[in-house]
Amino acid sequence: MSHTEQEVIARVAKKLYIDGKWLDAFDLATFGVEDPSTGTILTSVADAGPTDAIAALDSASKAFDSWSTTAPRARGEILRRAFEAIVQSADYLSLLMTLEMGKPLAESRAEVIYAADFFRWFSEEAVRIDGRYYQAPDGNSRVLTLKQAVGPAYLITPWNFPLAMATRKLGAALAAGCTVILKPAEQTPLCSLALTQILIEAGLPDGVLNLILTSNPAVITDTLFEHGGLRKLSFTGSTEVGKMLVAKSAGSLLKVSMELGGNAPFLVFDDCDLDKAVDGAMVAKMRNMGEACTSANRFIVHSSVAEDFSQRLSQRMAALSLGRGTEGEIAVGPLIDIDAIAKVQHLVLDAVAKGATVLTGGKRLGAQGYFFQPTVLLGVDSTSEITHKEIFGPVAPISIFSSELEAIQMANATEYGLVAYVYTKDLSRALRVIEQLDTGMIGLNQGMVSNAAAPFGGVKHSGFGREGGFEGIDEYLTVKYVAINHRTGL
Ligand code: NAD
Repeated sequence: MSHTEQEVIARVAKKLYIDGKWLDAFDLATFGVEDPSTGTILTSVADAGPTDAIAALDSASKAFDSWSTTAPRARGEILRRAFEAIVQSADYLSLLMTLEMGKPLAESRAEVIYAADFFRWFSEEAVRIDGRYYQAPDGNSRVLTLKQAVGPAYLITPWNFPLAMATRKLGAALAAGCTVILKPAEQTPLCSLALTQILIEAGLPDGVLNLILTSNPAVITDTLFEHGGLRKLSFTGSTEVGKMLVAKSAGSLLKVSMELGGNAPFLVFDDCDLDKAVDGAMVAKMRNMGEACTSANRFIVHSSVAEDFSQRLSQRMAALSLGRGTEGEIAVGPLIDIDAIAKVQHLVLDAVAKGATVLTGGKRLGAQGYFFQPTVLLGVDSTSEITHKEIFGPVAPISIFSSELEAIQMANATEYGLVAYVYTKDLSRALRVIEQLDTGMIGLNQGMVSNAAAPFGGVKHSGFGREGGFEGIDEYLTVKYVAINHRTGL
């Protein structure tokens, strides 16, 4: 590690943050954080157990009354100050993110700015929590509705966007007036530690944010669900874990939001601008080394442009430089761990065994760190595992279609429904296809949909609930209705 890298790691507290205090785990346990570009341990952080989880929930419960009745403007201004602090700390946060997660520095910086934007957006939404007053249809009474914070919220985030997945939840929750327990993924706790420090400095009162780091998320989660007092669960992660948490949360009937896995189709019609489609494909596939829920997982290309598209995409993929994200002009960093390498390699081999041709890449690169070559597969059969599973790696499988109907059927032939990409210049076709795709989001002639001002979320096994946009704050609010007899007076 360079001197600057050591300084960045030294700057973060490596502890839990509960009721306004940085604490060691009750049993003093710690766990290591790995650098995926070398496989070495960067540092160790406190490893929470059940006692710490209960302390965090008690703290969030205690702080709820005061925070939920704090003036919305005051809540918003804390978020606004935190937004500014994140932007000012972009160099430090980017390096920290690259070290623990692996993505190239330029991508980390883009995530830092995207992450900050959720705090700016929700600082503006905090003051727009509304209600209604209207006449009942029979004219005999009046209906009043008001929205109130749902209660202490448990926020679980994945490793692939260590900062943005946290701010996307925290921004909405804090703006709504919820107190929270934030539990980042065990692979990437450092960004959450830095974020917590920023929120403390922005003036967040004690107990409003409690940070729990753990190498055993199941134990912490079970403890929180059983302890009582939690009212909300917001989870971003795999569909497999999400389904299990929905089932477990039923015991305490939590209000639940689920941002789960994807299997995004990327449709290339013969009437599209092929240059733009290739540009969009590179973004949709290679952002985050393919480790994004929104990553293009299946390229579905019209037969008349399939050859041209595949060649151009392969050339662009083959030209990408791989390496440690902290170094120079690196375009592609490592995957998160050895399991990710094994999974991606298996999916490629299975596709090839079922008839696909490798146009470029196809293998792990080197023995140190977890690098996989940017890969393009042509002629991928629909029975291949890669068409049904989330790849989460830099592999672009291409299948061919010949009619619009066939393209839509292929796109919808998945249990997931997070995002789809459509490239066409024909407006009528675009509208027809948009309406028929079973998905929560669509990129129309655009390879990226993420935007703090837009409702992010999926359908089918990609989950339910929305983050960001005007909808995001509602995930943390309940509606109270008052029936008013306006004739008799109070
Ligand atoms: P994961 O499901 O393994 O882990 C996600 C989080 O859940 C982590 O914090 C982890 O510690 C926790 N967790 C794991 N097992 C748990 C358990 N038994 N009980 C409680 N918590 C548990 O997913 P991951 O590998 O960290 O992230 C990748 C997945 O996240 C992909 O499927 C990706 O598509 C999805 N994702 C979705 C979105 C979205 O907005 N839809 C965004 C980013 C990532």
